Amino acid sequence: MSNQKPVIIAGAGVTGLSAAMHLAKMGAPNVVVVRGPKIPSSSASPGLLTGGQRDNFTRVATAHQADFAKIIWQFGDRAFDLTTSWARDQGTPMATCRRLRLIATPEELTEASAAVREMSAAGIPSKLLTGNDLAASPWGKALGPRIMGVQDDGERGGWIDSEILLKKLLAAVHEIPSITITDGTVESISGYASAELIVGIKSPTTQLAGENLKKIQASAIVAACHLAIGDLIPSLKSALVSSADQWLTIAGPLDGSAPQSPWNRPGIAWSAFHNHEWGASQTDGRLLLGGGRILRKWAGFEATEAKVEAKISNYILDQTKKSFPHWLAASPPSAESAGLDCHPCDELPIVGPMYGEGRILVATGFMGQGLTLGFYSGFCLAKLLMTGHCDELPRRLWPERLRSLQDQE
Ligand SMILES: Cc1cc2nc3c(=O)[nH]c(=O)nc-3n(C[C@H](O)[C@H](O)[C@H](O)COP(=O)(O)OP(=O)(O)OC[C@H]3O[C@@H](n4cnc5c(N)ncnc54)[C@H](O)[C@@H]3O)c2cc1C
Repeated sequence: MSNQKPVIIAGAGVTGLSAAMHLAKMGAPNVVVVRGPKIPSSSASPGLLTGGQRDNFTRVATAHQADFAKIIWQFGDRAFDLTTSWARDQGTPMATCRRLRLIATPEELTEASAAVREMSAAGIPSKLLTGNDLAASPWGKALGPRIMGVQDDGERGGWIDSEILLKKLLAAVHEIPSITITDGTVESISGYASAELIVGIKSPTTQLAGENLKKIQASAIVAACHLAIGDLIPSLKSALVSSADQWLTIAGPLDGSAPQSPWNRPGIAWSAFHNHEWGASQTDGRLLLGGGRILRKWAGFEATEAKVEAKISNYILDQTKKSFPHWLAASPPSAESAGLDCHPCDELPIVGPMYGEGRILVATGFMGQGLTLGFYSGFCLAKLLMTGHCDELPRRLWPERLRSLQDQE
């Protein structure tokens, strides 16, 4: 191993492993990945893949102006392309086909009309099917009267086996001699803006030796530890809000009335009712169905744990039956799961160097798109560290935008 000070990566989920892999590919001589205390949420993720943003274009544009909505949409598209291309090359079980928004309320219809118009003005392809056009289309034929329209955002939708994606990433990283993976937890970072950046790691080895922390001089640290990032970098804590969500898998097909229906293809990612319902068709003929956050306290925000709730599973199944009346659900659901995701207070991912300290980089807050945004952020941070700039990473995603939060403390 190189004698050069390592780049330490805190967290071995999709973000941390992607950062490690890309750093090594770009020539970093010494990278140490510290796994952390928990199974990464990446390996238990339901695996819905979407380009652009999970929220509709109008919502992003309203919060952050249309120009920036275009930039962040393209960031999501590039993240989708890089992740799916890498995963496909590695033989990860996955399918990509279409990203569709099912419109179930008049408010969503108004929003979708505006979104398609604004996307078209921004040069982003999207179309809206309603009325007779929808009824005559192969998409519309499978849908119940609840669905008033379909916003078709194109081909960047899909499903991936996230557990295998993470195993493939881990295997790729294991093969690179300049990367070391170690059990343990990054407990402290000191030396902000001084000559030496010191990272304290608690590990089974330090504990056996009766030591509290092993202190390592690092050239940089990438904090890729999802919600726990606030424990490591306290100034980000108030910016991150947890949110609980739940999903299950169940037999398909969605459109039993027409075996050739496009809804029966693998790799269709859809959402409905303002993203409170979502799903994807998997490669094994099963369906991923999720959502129902609105049935949780505070719609799942600020939850400290996420448990599977029977009433939410029932809601997910009932709503799916209303959207897809020809769905042939032959067996009870399986793989019911719930998890805590990470929402930044301003609903933009937080990716980039900490203010005033370019050797501490962070990536978190991916709001249900972390498989692709995390993978791409890993690439962007590696490029930023190795070359000093990364045009692919919009500066507005850097944590510097959250400085005012710290000032208020
Ligand atoms: C309910 C739910 C549904 C989701 N659905 C999807 C979806 O369909 N599609 C999608 O793309 N994304 C989805 N996501 C989001 C996605 O799973 C996450 O954004 C993504 O996996 C985050 O990856 P990560 O590598 O940043 O974090 P993780 O995969 O969580 O990895 C972080 C790691 O950091 C470690 N760690 C913590 N503290 C420390 C420390 N101090 N030192 C070292 N290591 C530490 C932890 O042990 C953990 O292993 C969903 C998330 C949830 C919760």
